[in-house]
Amino acid sequence: MSNIYEPQNPLTQYKQPPFKPQQQPDPGDTFQMDPKPDHGEESYIGHGRLAGRKALITGGDSGIGRAVAIAFAREGADVVLNYLPDEQANAEDTKKVVAETGRTVELIPGDLTDEKFNYELVEKAVEALGGLDLLVMVGGYMQTVDSFDDFTTELLDHTFKTNVYSLFWLTDAALPHLKPGSAIITTSSIQGFNPSPGLLEYAGTKAAIVNVTRGLATQLAEKGIRVNGVAPGPFWTPLQPSSVPNEKIESFGSEAAYGRPGQPVELSSTYVYLASQEASYTSGETIAVTGGTAVH
Ligand code: NAD
Ligand code: MG
Repeated sequence: MSNIYEPQNPLTQYKQPPFKPQQQPDPGDTFQMDPKPDHGEESYIGHGRLAGRKALITGGDSGIGRAVAIAFAREGADVVLNYLPDEQANAEDTKKVVAETGRTVELIPGDLTDEKFNYELVEKAVEALGGLDLLVMVGGYMQTVDSFDDFTTELLDHTFKTNVYSLFWLTDAALPHLKPGSAIITTSSIQGFNPSPGLLEYAGTKAAIVNVTRGLATQLAEKGIRVNGVAPGPFWTPLQPSSVPNEKIESFGSEAAYGRPGQPVELSSTYVYLASQEASYTSGETIAVTGGTAVH
């Protein structure tokens, strides 16, 4: 396991393609990934940057959300993790790693496409944490549709509900609890700027997220609540083998300027930064973490 604090060549810090072919049904399972992603289990060290903060993290069972949960707890935050009921085993494993910090970690499974559930999730999180000051939306849905011949309203609906509607629902539910100094963090994608032809539904949601993040930041400025986003490039998570075909898995990350995918731990400090008061003058921004690829 690499030491993420040691200066080194980032191109060779983690595995480069080719990867073994692997496919999974969605929502994907961390245990079946080869190689195992690095979420910071052995490597992420906290520095008290989120001491005493109370965070709701969606998509917290696996991938980027798991790395964010580990980092936030090691930085001193209590966390509630949301994910789909099918992902209970991944969530329990994340809980185990997070609990080693001694911070509170609660699991609240449920489907973000269900409007009512979003409101219940926030209320349960507030109860579990004794308040809320960080709303961190990492959960998201992606499927490949190579041709418009295969367009369905169902996929469009599912993708926008998961990625965009839930942003509005969770924000609406959380706002009465957030105070000056609180922060909202969204998760876009390089796809929101440079769409791949087979990801129109997904890329459209990710562009919307950048736009809503900017507008919401301006609206909430007078309340002292910051709103920022993260736009990842290719990251080695279960989202990929459960949504793109094998030929793309084998060469996954080769399109990045670094020639490799990022590992979830390479993103978690960006979420920590945006959540922490260190980013006090930053709102409305989406930070691209793309392995050197230009985002425009
Ligand atoms: P992941 O599969 O580990 O995480 C996505 C999570 O979304 C799942 O674990 C699941 O819990 C959650 N989710 C999906 N549908 C849901 C629903 N209906 N209700 C509740 N939860 C639901 O993969 P990841 O790559 O860590 O994805 C996290 C975020 O990062 C997503 O928003 C994704 O779009 C974004 N992203 C990922 C990449 C990448 O290359 N992996 C690139 C850019 C952006
Ligand atoms: Mg998952």
